[in-house]
Amino acid sequence: VSDSAAAAMGHEDEPGELVRIWNEDEVLEFSGRLIATATTKQPGKPRWLEMKLHRLTDGTGRYVISRVGRSVVYHRYDGPCNRGVPAPASELVLESVPCAACAAPALDVAKMMAGVPVAKEADHYSATVCDDAQHVLQRLRFNAASSFRDDALPAEITYSAPAQRLLDEARLRDEVMHATLSTVRRL
Ligand SMILES: [Zn+2]
Repeated sequence: VSDSAAAAMGHEDEPGELVRIWNEDEVLEFSGRLIATATTKQPGKPRWLEMKLHRLTDGTGRYVISRVGRSVVYHRYDGPCNRGVPAPASELVLESVPCAACAAPALDVAKMMAGVPVAKEADHYSATVCDDAQHVLQRLRFNAASSFRDDALPAEITYSAPAQRLLDEARLRDEVMHATLSTVRRL
């Protein structure tokens, strides 16, 4: 992106904050602004997805989509589920939910079983750097070949519910995203 193009986008010299985003086995660090968040968190659901969209403030017009898969589920240590990582029960938070499939002990019981760890599901972090707003849309769209695609969804649904909410907010808070989401298709 040339300087004039960056100026045309109105993002030149825009102040940003130092942002650090976990991406699997690395941390992305950049100067940017948070423009949208979305979560699938619901009462009583022990696993959910959080999404964020940041815009870089370095004049390149790039964006970062980040996702965190969160879980408060814990399993029986050495149980049949083979999920989670060993942790002392003292690390379990109040919202922690025992897995029913492996009959993990209830939270108060687990906390009293000194020296017996649990297998706590970890949060999973991923992030995608996008060259521009079009690239953001492309990365948020359902991919027909993607394993994330739920076959029960009708074909005309383009974005997952959290991705759609992320875009709805981004449209209000970022002029480039707004323009990209308002592209005229001439028939
Ligand atoms: Zn389990």
